[in-house]
Amino acid sequence: MSDANHTILIVEDEPALREGLRDALESEGYEVLDAPDGVKGLHLGLTTDPDLIILDLMLPGLDGFGVLRRLRADAVETPVLILTARGLETDKVKGLELGADDYLVKPFGLAELLARVASRLRAWDRERGRAPRERLRLGPVTVDFAARTVRRTMKEQTGPARAEAPQERRRDGDVCGLTQQEVALLRFLLAHEGRAVSRADLLAGVWSNGEAPASRVIDNAVFNLRRKIESDPAAPRHLVSVRGVGYRFSR
Ligand code: CA
Repeated sequence: MSDANHTILIVEDEPALREGLRDALESEGYEVLDAPDGVKGLHLGLTTDPDLIILDLMLPGLDGFGVLRRLRADAVETPVLILTARGLETDKVKGLELGADDYLVKPFGLAELLARVASRLRAWDRERGRAPRERLRLGPVTVDFAARTVRRTMKEQTGPARAEAPQERRRDGDVCGLTQQEVALLRFLLAHEGRAVSRADLLAGVWSNGEAPASRVIDNAVFNLRRKIESDPAAPRHLVSVRGVGYRFSR
């Protein structure tokens, strides 16, 4: 499953920053690995083949420069985004010379970090000839069309529901699969986003090459899709029924 997503390794010794980065990146649908020091970071960098490494320079033991040097010496080409302390211009230059691809000066905004990460990953995918991932984010749910998966982040749940189900609390990153038909249905509705699509159009567009199914088949498919992508399938926000017509997709 994990090869369907981008995996990002965070090497950062400050727990609050490390957790904050993890949460932000996971919310974007990335797989996240993290390490609190350079030795563990290097080990993960050498053994797990992440798509991007976010590397703090000031680390206990083996520092970020040491990690970067060893990675490049071992021919690990993974893009590296270094985190440097404000005012340490020489660190930035040294990092880039050692083979870092980008840098951010602390403190930085999460929006900027996420933009840099996304752009670096796109470049890396192009370089490796990978197709960019086709994703759809709906609140806590991320649909990956190519992998045919739906990932749900559970921790956005708050309040009593969360307190009643402590075993669910850290099950962020739950994944379920989509059938080919469900992917086709979702794509079709997405292509007509915001507009009501009739059952006849859905039959023609999604079930075009089989025997003509009853419209019940559409309703069943929508029912199943709702259970996978809606927060409350009984009160759908994205796959909305349009009386007398069919369905409408909205974000
Ligand atoms: Ca640090």
